[in-house]
Amino acid sequence: MAARSRFDTHEVFNQSPPYENVDLFASDGPLVEAVKANGGGGAGLMAALSAFGRHWGSAAMIALGREANENPPLLHAFDAKGFRSDSVAFHPAYHRLMGESIAAGLQASTWSESGRHAAAPSEVLRAARFYMTAQIETGHLCPITMTRAALAALAADPALLAKIAPKVLSRSYDPTLRPWWQKSGMTLGMGMTEKQGGTDVRANTTSATPNGEAYSVVGHKWFMSAPMSDAFLVLAQAPDGLTCFLLPRFRPDGSVNALRLQRLKDKLGNRSNASSEVEFADAFAWRVGAEGAGIRTILEMVQLTRLDCAVASAGLMRMALAQAVHHCRHRSAFGKRLIDQPMMRAVLADLALELEGAVALVMRLCRAFDRAADDAREAAYARLVTPAAKYWICKTAPAFIYEAMECLGGNGYVEESMLPRLYREAPVNAIWEGSGNVMCLDVLRALKGEAEADVAAALSHETGIALADGDAAGLDEAHPRSLVGKLALMASARALKASAPVAVADAFVRTRLTQSHATLYGTATLDPSVTQLLLQRALPEG
Ligand SMILES: Cc1cc2nc3c(=O)[nH]c(=O)nc-3n(C[C@H](O)[C@H](O)[C@H](O)COP(=O)(O)OP(=O)(O)OC[C@H]3O[C@@H](n4cnc5c(N)ncnc54)[C@H](O)[C@@H]3O)c2cc1C
Repeated sequence: MAARSRFDTHEVFNQSPPYENVDLFASDGPLVEAVKANGGGGAGLMAALSAFGRHWGSAAMIALGREANENPPLLHAFDAKGFRSDSVAFHPAYHRLMGESIAAGLQASTWSESGRHAAAPSEVLRAARFYMTAQIETGHLCPITMTRAALAALAADPALLAKIAPKVLSRSYDPTLRPWWQKSGMTLGMGMTEKQGGTDVRANTTSATPNGEAYSVVGHKWFMSAPMSDAFLVLAQAPDGLTCFLLPRFRPDGSVNALRLQRLKDKLGNRSNASSEVEFADAFAWRVGAEGAGIRTILEMVQLTRLDCAVASAGLMRMALAQAVHHCRHRSAFGKRLIDQPMMRAVLADLALELEGAVALVMRLCRAFDRAADDAREAAYARLVTPAAKYWICKTAPAFIYEAMECLGGNGYVEESMLPRLYREAPVNAIWEGSGNVMCLDVLRALKGEAEADVAAALSHETGIALADGDAAGLDEAHPRSLVGKLALMASARALKASAPVAVADAFVRTRLTQSHATLYGTATLDPSVTQLLLQRALPEG
């Protein structure tokens, strides 16, 4: 260390050591407690999460995350002779990350062999792993989340599900370009968004014409991520309306299906992940669910990817906060460590409190998914709180990460610190799978929908917001953001009461609900003992 720090011209000191070779689970007090509070607390389960946390927090895994983003995927639309190739080349680091996540079951561990939801607490345990993985590399989680969520939509066709599920449940990552039935494992993507409309998928113009037992699809998708997936859930207009299809890369006769990859998007962040523009030139596809039921069918999938957006955004926030606390523990200015400077303590503690609420909320939400099949109120909670959590946490993440970045000063603005990557990554979780306004409208829809009574009961039980008969119908469609923000905060407070120390839950309620929290962090007034507690829970010292 001494040799590394001595230069001809100066000596290097007062810099924080790299934040690496850490246990992403055991060092994260709020996560440990939220997992326990939501059913994941068995000793063996916690030990396994800790082993996972050490592995993903190793210097080697952090390096893979960096390499996968410094070497983004390349489209090979044609080969040297002008024949179509329609393939994407990824850096080996991306393949390693995919292999690791699939070996850990992030693409399927919430499903049983029969394609039903696996026993509780599978959702909580997977989310804890997903949260840790997101801290290291988020781009590859796009195909991982789509693969796990797609099975929910495929349930609309039990025969198709039975064929596909074993390949999805396999813990083997097989990136070869071969028919899925010849592979040791498969991944799934999704194509809904077209040029003329993404949110409003009813505007889709891609058509599907019956062709024997299957359909022939003609049209395009303006965004279709992970185009090297083995099959895609795609929306297209069939004779009886918008319908969901499974469109494989290879037709059943083994020939390459007619997907034409036009271009890869040049994106703000999410650079390890390939997001393509694609055309379908009479592509083969199986129908999933009834003709005309496309939106209902694919929403089963989207509910799960929305949950993952919230979990991943909380993960990005966690890595930013951990880096900030770690740095401030090692960096001094004006004769004191930054973490002992009163105003820096206020900023870090306020950030830590924000994240406490987010982690408690996503883990509570996962418990609802774990129990939804047997408990109508938990199902209603999942229906209502998923769009609210996705809205609130994904919208919070960019400003949160920006503030954490500033805690590292100039070092935080430089690529090696990882903070710029976290910052660039954050907005996409708010945009895809339904953007902010759309999430708010979805909360209103849940309040006015078929399960209105169950949803109102879940709302009142979890947040104390009581809607009288007829209130939901009169909710203001122009300003649901304040209602949905309040719902997310109240649900977070309730979740914190079940998982965190009373002092933390009380501080959250006081600074976020009783008082209104300013848009900038560090403005909440916290008791010094609560500040100390929050910082120690965020990252134990020593
Ligand atoms: C990196 C990346 C990868 C993606 N990958 C995929 C993929 O794999 N598959 C896929 O299908 N799509 C994918 N998408 C597309 C994404 O899901 C859409 O961009 C998103 O759903 C928004 O649709 P849009 O872009 O058409 O915007 P629009 O639908 O035009 O929406 C624009 C804005 O208007 C708001 N808005 C819409 N309706 C209303 C309303 N009624 N009231 C108030 N506000 C409203 C929205 O919230 C949004 O802020 C990806 C996007 C990105 C950025």
